Amino acid sequence: MSAIDTEACPYCSTICRADFVDIGVGMQQCGPYHCDNCGASEIGPYDKERPLTERERLAGWYGPGEPVGSTANVIGGRIVSHVQARSTYQREFTGNPLWHDKKYVDDWWAAQRTAKGGDHAE
Ligand SMILES: [Zn+2]
Repeated sequence: MSAIDTEACPYCSTICRADFVDIGVGMQQCGPYHCDNCGASEIGPYDKERPLTERERLAGWYGPGEPVGSTANVIGGRIVSHVQARSTYQREFTGNPLWHDKKYVDDWWAAQRTAKGGDHAE
C-alpha cells in the first residue's frame, strides 16, 4: 500500500513524495511533489499561471522557497495531503458556526497558504 513513486528534487536531489489517492484502478497523483529540504514544489497542470524563471520552466518545478502552486493543499504554509487538509479543516470548523461563511472559510484557507511555519499537527 505504501509503494508510491518518488522523484528527485531538480534543485537539490532530495527524494520527494507527492499525495496520491486510490481511485480503484490504481493510484492517481492529487498533489504536487514537493521538497522538504529546499522548499521547491512541482508545478501542477491546473495551477494558476504566473511568471516562471527559465530554470523553473525547464524543471517543471517552482524554485526553492517560492510559493507553491495554487492547486496544492497547504496548511500552515506547508504542502500536505488532501487527507491532512480535510482533517485540519474539520478540526477548525466542527462546531464553528462560521463554516458556512464562505468569505471566512476562503480567508482561512488563504491564511494557511501564506503562514510561515506556525503550528501544524504532526
Ligand atoms: Zn530540493
